[in-house]
Amino acid sequence: MNHYPLFADLHNRAVLLVGGGHVAERKAEMLLKAGATIYAVSAHWTPRFQRWLNKGVIIHGGDSFSADLLDHVFLVMTATNDKSLNTKVFQAAEAAGKFCNSADNPTQCSFIVPAVIDRSPLQIAVSSGGTAPVLARLWRQKIETLLPQHIGKTAALAGRWRAAVKQKLHGLTERRRFWEHLFNGDFDSHVARGNETAAETILQQQLNQHQPLKQGEVTLVGAGPGDAGLLTLNAIQAMQAADIVLYDALVSLEILEWVRRDADKVCVGKRAGAHKVKQEEINRLLMDYAQQGKRVVRLKGGDPFVFGRGGEECQELAKAGIPFKIVPGITAGLGATAYAGIPLTHRDYAQTALFITGHCRPDGDELHWQTLARGRQTLVIYMGTIKAESISTELITHGRAADTPAAVVSQGTLTEQHVRIGTLRNLAQLAADAPAPALIIIGEVVKLRSELAWFQEHRNTAAAQMIEAA
Ligand code: SAH
Repeated sequence: MNHYPLFADLHNRAVLLVGGGHVAERKAEMLLKAGATIYAVSAHWTPRFQRWLNKGVIIHGGDSFSADLLDHVFLVMTATNDKSLNTKVFQAAEAAGKFCNSADNPTQCSFIVPAVIDRSPLQIAVSSGGTAPVLARLWRQKIETLLPQHIGKTAALAGRWRAAVKQKLHGLTERRRFWEHLFNGDFDSHVARGNETAAETILQQQLNQHQPLKQGEVTLVGAGPGDAGLLTLNAIQAMQAADIVLYDALVSLEILEWVRRDADKVCVGKRAGAHKVKQEEINRLLMDYAQQGKRVVRLKGGDPFVFGRGGEECQELAKAGIPFKIVPGITAGLGATAYAGIPLTHRDYAQTALFITGHCRPDGDELHWQTLARGRQTLVIYMGTIKAESISTELITHGRAADTPAAVVSQGTLTEQHVRIGTLRNLAQLAADAPAPALIIIGEVVKLRSELAWFQEHRNTAAAQMIEAA
């Protein structure tokens, strides 16, 4: 983070503004709106400045800048044509420990002024950290069109009730739930129609009827294979409403960014063979947090019900009588293959696609190799790279042609995605050292990848990092 965003309360606080031209005038206008007491320093004034000075709206701080002017001000802004003067002001402000902004010179700013969408008391500030103010302004315009005009009134009305709600509802979580429920309902639409009395009646009713949650709930959310663009709307809603999120090692940082900022995030990551938190422990945590009345999100890579042990977690929750929901996600077998340009079925090559795990329970449950070795079907093997050699041998022994095309897709859908193409015969070689997580795909459909050239145009990075093994 380049800058720490903050909103300053300038009401009746002294601000030193150096400059009397048009740029300084725009700065003065904003400062006046914010209620600041402006001391302006310049030898020349625009007519508007002059009027402000005459009326005493702005105080004349002198014709020229001197460092002693900094003594009693809260912050400093300099906006003159004279670069050396701006530098002098900035350096003096730094020495005096005052926040200073030099117009159009990011290197001489200890604070920057963002582009603002103003629905006071609700304000949205957009900043490019001084790198591209025009870009920040463009986004301000876009956000402007998205944000309803009445939203400021909604915020102001809520503000008038904040203390009453705080008195009645104890605990941050309770209050957050109350407000979330309120803002998502009819309250806001009444404000939008200008009927604040009806809005307040709803608020009062909901406050009287509010029951603290005794029992929480668990939502199993499929986070997809990695690209955050593959999250569903339901997944984002659940992640935004969560009190606590228990996530797997497979969940990317980009996806975790979508979790509500104040939610607790706990990594219960595990990779095949190296369990970090045992499944029983995860089940217990889910139940404990839900029993404390929390909204728990269990965030899993891909889909929770595809080799994700989501079924087992739900069985335990059901036994304990804890309410739960499932938000399906895009499983790696769909996401990684699509991004790699490999369709799972095709009228000419495969009428069946089987999703298989290469990581069976230690006590055995052998795969049915005769079924798996049949032709005209695509095999998608999860957690299979360690067993690639035996998978290849078993399939060939049971009749699948040794020259059947095969692929290993690593880190599918992420920018690091990396694809190796070969045949069933050299599957072990393809899988050796493939970065995790990796998926094996076996079947004639793999050769379609070379035809699906559009994919390479769309994902240049992935294409560049592709390794084509013979
Ligand atoms: N529930 C997950 C699967 C968990 S099992 C899902 O539906 O996708 C973990 C295995 O999934 C990994 O060993 C790997 O084989 C596969 N996998 C998960 N994410 C992947 C990705 N981004 N690219 C390739 N394979 C992936």
